[in-house]
Amino acid sequence: MMTRDDNVNVLPGVGPKRLEALHEIGIFTIEDLVTYFPFRYEDLGERVPSETLDGDKVTFKGIVSTPAVMTRFGKKTQTRFGLLIAHENIRVTFFNQPWITQNIIVGEEIAVYGTYNAAKAAMTGIKMINASVDGLDPIYPATKQIAAKTIRHLIEIAWSEVRGTIPTLVPETIRQKYRLLDRNTQIENMHFPVDMAAAKAGRRSAAFEEFFIFQMRLQLLKLADQNFAGESIDYDETALVNFEQALPFELTAAQQKVIQEILQDQKRPRHMNRLLQGDVGSGKTVVAAMTMYAAVTAGCQAAIMAPTEILAQQHAMNLAQLFDNAGVNVRVELLTSGLKVAARRHLLEDLENGTIDILVGTHALLQPDVAFHHLGLAVIDEQHRFGVNQRAKLRENGVNPDILAMTATPIPRTLSITAYGEMDISVIDQLPSGRKTIQTKRLRHNQLDTALDFVKQQIDLGAQAYIVTPLIEESESLDVQNATAMYEAMQLELPQYQIGLLHGRLSNDEKKQLMEDFKANRIQILVATTVIEVGVDVPNASVMLILDADRFGLAQLHQLRGRVGRGKRQSYTILVADPKTDYGTARLDAMVETTDGFVLAQRDLDLRGAGDILGTKQSGVPEFNVGDPVKDLRMLEIAQQEAIAIVSDKTWDQAPANQALVNYLSRTMAQYRHFD
Ligand code: ADP
Ligand code: MG
Repeated sequence: MMTRDDNVNVLPGVGPKRLEALHEIGIFTIEDLVTYFPFRYEDLGERVPSETLDGDKVTFKGIVSTPAVMTRFGKKTQTRFGLLIAHENIRVTFFNQPWITQNIIVGEEIAVYGTYNAAKAAMTGIKMINASVDGLDPIYPATKQIAAKTIRHLIEIAWSEVRGTIPTLVPETIRQKYRLLDRNTQIENMHFPVDMAAAKAGRRSAAFEEFFIFQMRLQLLKLADQNFAGESIDYDETALVNFEQALPFELTAAQQKVIQEILQDQKRPRHMNRLLQGDVGSGKTVVAAMTMYAAVTAGCQAAIMAPTEILAQQHAMNLAQLFDNAGVNVRVELLTSGLKVAARRHLLEDLENGTIDILVGTHALLQPDVAFHHLGLAVIDEQHRFGVNQRAKLRENGVNPDILAMTATPIPRTLSITAYGEMDISVIDQLPSGRKTIQTKRLRHNQLDTALDFVKQQIDLGAQAYIVTPLIEESESLDVQNATAMYEAMQLELPQYQIGLLHGRLSNDEKKQLMEDFKANRIQILVATTVIEVGVDVPNASVMLILDADRFGLAQLHQLRGRVGRGKRQSYTILVADPKTDYGTARLDAMVETTDGFVLAQRDLDLRGAGDILGTKQSGVPEFNVGDPVKDLRMLEIAQQEAIAIVSDKTWDQAPANQALVNYLSRTMAQYRHFD
């Protein structure tokens, strides 16, 4: 007897090689196998010859148009007849299956499976198929190591053995509320649908189950996090007020609101895991500064991690400046990978003995020898640039510090519940006052002169400009060459200005010097590769000129545009491109039409389709097998609500109705210690 918990190697034909191939696609047990679902169905009624490739194995459903004629050659036979599929006629030939002849009657509907010869509009029949049921052929995701047909075959064997024995995970009450199938029917419908409606119902239930399990895991992680005793950061309120008053600007209402949310979290004797969302230029850095300072006034240390050296340097400089303005004594240090051995050793000593208050750095902060004396708050800037693992690593480094992750929404807001479902979210939904909407223009390459004239005008008004050359993924040296060529051209073209060249090959000191010079307006034009894409803040810069703009993604263009419009000046983005694809054109149009990051993120999603954005490292949204977090968003939200409702009852895992769910989660969720 086979059971659902058995290893798949109990199946006939599964040797070590096939077993490995199955493991690769996440199939270990019989239950895993029977819940490995097709991603689409081939509907026999839908195939027509004119849309079928030569040599394809297909099933055609049609009306017999000419009587079957059988010929014999010794022992061999051949049966031929005409088949009308929609309005297309083909000739079908069966070899050595004389018995089928009697089933072929002119005017009747039949379905035949075989190999299609496009040149001859003919098919070599392999078998006849009952045309009375909707023939739906499930198509499974396959790999090089294991064919879809093999998977299908194994599922047929396994299902005949364990059919009816798979426990249902989604609790009964929820299933009734949303009219979801029990798990056995759902599985049956997915693999062996009697018609498209059955397949759809199966898919709907399977998608819900997938979202629900995912949301249960998130909610349990969140609970585990909250129960994880963090420490209470007992900050000095007066010191914070003084700090705020010394700021060179007044905080926006949105900034004040999120600061309060974060401070309250810090004060609570539990672990904070919070995401701060705010569009480019909304002023996230000062929020980080205030909350890090809060940790420092409570006798703790704080850290901020940035994705690039340039940004880390800028943060270190800005923070030091802010504390200087406020006249408070906070020691800020910068840890980058370029630090000399001796300097690094000193810095780490001071970090460990607690004389450094705030450490700024890149992923160099995650190295195992970086030990804090007492880390109270870890901030991750541009968090979408870091992997989940890096987020986890930072947490291990301190005595379970509070975490504040910051991002400028590279994905639509609604989708963040999947990407960051285990985090609490604060949103800055307003830009500092006095900002003027950035104007965005599109030009062709042959209009570059017009663009440069404009740059000249702006500089003569006292502003500064960026000129960005595209990143060449395949070759860093080409990338540098490109930027260098542009730099030299600009020196000839605009000799009256100081021009700088910034790219990834420069040393940290060189980068730092350039950024300082640009910030101080000793340089008026900065020619750069995308190293300046995120975070860089020079409010006096008012022009962002992007060359070959169609080569950048929308999220990237939006980030680049965010480098200007950071001060009181009216700012401009000029996209220079001769796009060769509709998609390239559409992206540029989107940039011209809106400056709202949320709108652009949604547009990006519409343009690219979910598959391209979701599951990529950039977005942080996990991949699902059945459900589609964009098309099925409403379902995803419902699954979240239901999961929250379940875990809100502390004894949910004792209820008999939830036992299958509890067992499943405990088996598949090593992280969840509660079940150990
Ligand atoms: P981002 O959210 O993109 O990280 P920053 O924190 O770099 O944005 O802030 C963008 C610019 O706006 C900076 O020059 C910063 O000093 C300035 N800024 C931040 N908050 C305010 C405010 N409340 N009023 C005016 N300027 C502000
Ligand atoms: Mg920033």
